[in-house]
Amino acid sequence: MRTVVGHADLKTELKGLEAPIGFVPTMGFLHAGHISLVQRARQECRAVVVSIFVNPSQFGPKEDLAAYPRDLPRDLAMLKAAGTDLVWTPTPESMYPPGFQTWVTVEALTCGLEGEQRPGHFRGVATVVTKLFNAVAPQRAYFGQKDAQQAAVIRRMTRDLDLPIEIVICPTLRESDGLAMSSRNSYLSPAERTAASVLYRALSAARDAHTQGEHRAEVLRRIMQETLAGEPLAEPEYVSCADAESLQEVEQVSGKTLLSMAVRIGRTRLIDNINLD
Ligand code: AMP
Repeated sequence: MRTVVGHADLKTELKGLEAPIGFVPTMGFLHAGHISLVQRARQECRAVVVSIFVNPSQFGPKEDLAAYPRDLPRDLAMLKAAGTDLVWTPTPESMYPPGFQTWVTVEALTCGLEGEQRPGHFRGVATVVTKLFNAVAPQRAYFGQKDAQQAAVIRRMTRDLDLPIEIVICPTLRESDGLAMSSRNSYLSPAERTAASVLYRALSAARDAHTQGEHRAEVLRRIMQETLAGEPLAEPEYVSCADAESLQEVEQVSGKTLLSMAVRIGRTRLIDNINLD
């Protein structure tokens, strides 16, 4: 496994890799969810490239950029064990040099949900992913369903900008109590960690009601809210029952539907979702 920092070294190392290249962009502090994307890329591609970059432009001024967890030696050991060929760890200065002023914005898809709670977040995501794609020029790129709106935004952007990259969305990996794996779970105290399983319980309760024939979105949202209300440490930011493509809220569940939520557990903001078919 090779590790590079600069764009020039990246270019040199990429010349030695065979296509198709599978690319996994991450912000590091890796867990089994990230590794599942690497493994999928390993199965489907001749070479696997992973980036580790905590992208400043997708964090709001009051968000956790400075506190975001980092452990590069551990990340590199995990990536090596998973069969990664090349790791790229660009610096903020190289990605956003003085004078940088060009942004990629995806419109309607970023208005609700995370986009509403985190203004500017998806502009930062779409811009950095475009830059990472341009530098690595992969044939395939792997993203997690865990960040469902991000996945939808990247897919839309790739289509709209005619990027010749296949976007592969991989299932959410969960802890044994259902909590979606996330680098931010490391912020949770033991009591908060126990409470955090309420997100998946709320999503599961709504999914079970849907399986039993409940198609009214309002009722499914209420089931999620009531489950969350049963956990004193949970402060919901939003719960949503939306069309899985457009991410617009629906009245009735018909076709592919996304149940999603953002919940604060203490000072930690967690998101999760599941698809209803
Ligand atoms: P991040 O480092 O949080 O930016 O995540 C990098 C990639 O890993 C994104 O495509 C995420 O959606 C994906 N990811 C994060 N958590 C999980 C998980 N629990 N299961 C599957 N993929 C995940």
